Amino acid sequence: MFLQDVGKYYDQARGFEPFGPKVGQKDELLQFFNYECCFCGVGIDRKSLSQDHLIPMNKSALGLNAWGNVVPCCQSCNNEKQQESWKEFLAVKAGIEKPNKEQRINDFVLLKNYDPSLNLNEFADNLYEDVGQVAMTLINLRYRQAQKGIERLLESPVDKAAKHSQSSKKKVWMNGSTKTTQIGFINRNNQKNLGTRGIEGTDHGQSSYKIKCQITNCGHEYGSNGTDIFQRKCPNCQGGKPGISY
Ligand SMILES: [Zn+2]
Ligand SMILES: [Zn+2]
Repeated sequence: MFLQDVGKYYDQARGFEPFGPKVGQKDELLQFFNYECCFCGVGIDRKSLSQDHLIPMNKSALGLNAWGNVVPCCQSCNNEKQQESWKEFLAVKAGIEKPNKEQRINDFVLLKNYDPSLNLNEFADNLYEDVGQVAMTLINLRYRQAQKGIERLLESPVDKAAKHSQSSKKKVWMNGSTKTTQIGFINRNNQKNLGTRGIEGTDHGQSSYKIKCQITNCGHEYGSNGTDIFQRKCPNCQGGKPGISY
């Protein structure tokens, strides 16, 4: 599911309608490859069209269901190729036609501006980090609740009053528990994390972080949920969504 969503996002980022099961999109694939299987060259049409992901959609290869990674082929090539590298598979299927067919496929990838070296491992890592962070936030919350309950039982009324006035003055900026929530982390859009005061964000179980845009002449400061930091864009100069309170 993750690779489907990223594919959709990647298509939109490149200005395409997200790749899907639409007839018009099938026709575009067929036309570009001259109504032939892009591997073995057998004739195909809308009905017999099968779609192969050049870079397979699996956990290690992380190919996307997106324009430039999906090519038209015949059913039997699709069944045979599986997780094999498309160039090796093509060498077996196309014989002396391999250079031409490889060129055609490369032209298509280039036309659609699909970057085969797109570092999705970074996205995937971030995703797993975010999931970890949600779990950590819940654990911390439970821990804090338990801690407070115990403190309340032990404190004298005088201690309580002193604690209360201290905590209301507290303005300490803290790190979160993941790489992207550390103070000083700068994301790919040049947005720098300045930490959290523990104020609740707008996503379930999230803290709100203060972010500062590092773009020259901007320097805008705004709030972001912890999970959004890795991809946050500046609301002032990059068209990012409005900030939340921090
Ligand atoms: Zn074929
Ligand atoms: Zn900015």
